[in-house]
Amino acid sequence: MPFILVAVGVLIGVALTVAAYRWLPASRSGVLRPAVSVNAVEDLPSNPAPDYGRLALDGLRDGVVLADRAGQIQIRNARAESPTGTHHGDALINASVQRRVTQTVNGEATHESVELLDPARRVFRTSASPLPGGGVIVTISDVTEQARLDAVRTDFVANISHELKTPVGAMSVLAEALADEDDPETSRRLSGKVLRETTRLSEMIDDLLELSRIELGGEVRAEPVVICDVISQAIDRIGLVAERRHVRVHVGGETDLKVTGDPRQLVSAVANLLDNAVKYSGEGSTVDITANRLDTHIAIEVADDGIGIGPQHLERIFERFYRVDRARSRQTGGTGLGLAIVRHVAVNHGGDVSVRSEEGAGSTFTLRLPIGDHSHG
Ligand code: ADP
Repeated sequence: MPFILVAVGVLIGVALTVAAYRWLPASRSGVLRPAVSVNAVEDLPSNPAPDYGRLALDGLRDGVVLADRAGQIQIRNARAESPTGTHHGDALINASVQRRVTQTVNGEATHESVELLDPARRVFRTSASPLPGGGVIVTISDVTEQARLDAVRTDFVANISHELKTPVGAMSVLAEALADEDDPETSRRLSGKVLRETTRLSEMIDDLLELSRIELGGEVRAEPVVICDVISQAIDRIGLVAERRHVRVHVGGETDLKVTGDPRQLVSAVANLLDNAVKYSGEGSTVDITANRLDTHIAIEVADDGIGIGPQHLERIFERFYRVDRARSRQTGGTGLGLAIVRHVAVNHGGDVSVRSEEGAGSTFTLRLPIGDHSHG
């Protein structure tokens, strides 16, 4: 009997609690939770104040890892969780971070480069510095682009030195021979050769300056340019070479085309294409240059029926200093920079340059330029 009374009492208690909970919704928290202050409600975990420090760390493009004075990693920002996006790459970077922490925890700042080759070449740099109060901060940076530019620069300097050494070496040999020469006829022949080498050297320096101006010159001018004017100025530039080789330049296509661009760069690009067409075709032949509008672009085509280019070289001829036949290029006064200039001008203008060629049957180079605002006069 007392058990039944206790059970009924418990049931009534439960029923009253449930009723109070249902009918007094405004006081729910009061019924079910201990009384809380207004401030405490704002501090509830469902509505936390933003952790600005963490947000700032996670917003960084570089990975950041903090280790305590015992070398234990305490914080990693979001980027440091997966710096490479691949399991294998992340493992290599983490190992590098651990090495940086171990080496730096008691001493000097250290850094290390980590090269990943799969699926593509990527270079990361982990840099560690000791923290003033003990511990280490390590940053993880993706330096792939920087490493690529450094490699291009080193390559360029090595190439230039090599290219300049050839004519300078030839000149010193010729000068020595000249000094010992008594025969006026041989002296005349040798000085002619010295002159050829100096011309070659100065052409190469001109091309190098032109290329570096186009590559690094910053702003590309954006003004209306009449394509006909570009073509006639380019023809003027190569006039002497064409005359010497008895090559006729025939102009065709539309005459009222305009693009938005840098007139000096465009003349340089077209002159380089014409110069090649003249240099690499037979004496007395004809080179055709035509300009036409194709939808959103203007295409300037330079066609010759000269020696042509084998398929194995087509991919590489736009690289600096690449020449199909070094000996021939030397004879014709080539610097190996002309097509690199053309490609840069095309890219600077949002266009491109392409080539169709067959060995022994001639080449056609096409420079495509977006029309911009000034397609017609
Ligand atoms: P280069 O000063 O040697 O002419 P370029 O950069 O202008 O240098 O051209 C690179 C190479 O591409 C040339 O050495 C030549 O072998 C080849 N080439 C370029 N244009 C033509 C062409 N119209 N016909 C045949 N070969 C060409």
